[in-house]
Amino acid sequence: MGRMNHDKSRSFFGGRGFYIALVLCLAAIGVAGYFVLVQQAKVAEEGKDKPVVRQEEVENVQRAQMPEADPEPVQETLEPEELLPQVCSPLDGTTVTVFSMTELMYDETMADWRTHDGVDIRAEEGDAVKTAAAGTVKEVRYDDLMGVTVVISHADGYETQYSSLQQEPPVEQGKAVEAGDIIGLVGSTAAAEGDVGPHLHFSVSKDGRVVDPQEYVK
Ligand SMILES: [Zn+2]
Repeated sequence: MGRMNHDKSRSFFGGRGFYIALVLCLAAIGVAGYFVLVQQAKVAEEGKDKPVVRQEEVENVQRAQMPEADPEPVQETLEPEELLPQVCSPLDGTTVTVFSMTELMYDETMADWRTHDGVDIRAEEGDAVKTAAAGTVKEVRYDDLMGVTVVISHADGYETQYSSLQQEPPVEQGKAVEAGDIIGLVGSTAAAEGDVGPHLHFSVSKDGRVVDPQEYVK
């Protein structure tokens, strides 16, 4: 029995067994090599991801360092040419009543003393009234005292108002207008200013506060 075993083992290592062992070794090397490659591929992939992560981190840091949406307050200026760069005169005519919010002026029509929140420009009945600056028609209305009135809203909280127009001005609410567009015709519809005759009552406001139109329109 012992001899047979010896022979078997010798034949195993010395014969076919050697080749089996060699194949097993090669297979082991192959498997090891495969895992090394897989590992390298993983490392390469991780390496590939890293810069992206880093980029996001940098952006996060930059975002954290950037100030919140809180720009420096814009210094408001009343320089007309900056605020209404394309201002034009709404009407060629004679200014018969000036803006006066601090001094009372005698009102012939109302027979009393009152302020005047705009300028009155006298002209011929039916003369074209033009938009002083680009904007949007905010309102077309009939006012018991100021008659047919068109209000245009402009950038930066400015509004211009045109009163004492003839009935049915050729604009409607929401219409975009350019400086110089005709938005009405001179009329006599302002009951409060009937004694002035055909004229345009023109006023300008900034954030709801009237300002002297002659500061803007020469
Ligand atoms: Zn007036």
